[in-house]
Amino acid sequence: MGKATGKKVTWIETADRGTDYYGNCDICKKHMTIAYKLMSGNEYVRENGELYDNAFAHIYGHKECLEKICKEKEIELTC
Ligand SMILES: [Zn+2]
Repeated sequence: MGKATGKKVTWIETADRGTDYYGNCDICKKHMTIAYKLMSGNEYVRENGELYDNAFAHIYGHKECLEKICKEKEIELTC
């Protein structure tokens, strides 16, 4: 088992599929050709020093919409 570093990790990545699979954008409720997901979680460190995290997708939406939400909520993207 790893130990939490106390650091939060957040990033936006492509989900490879769009509205056909994920439904409309969580934020603006409009059609998405390709969805993006806002990933976030906590960072952990293994005994050998390797870093990993338990991040999962919290929101699916347009890249611009996710960036807007991050700005509004002052969520800092870590990678
Ligand atoms: Zn949107």
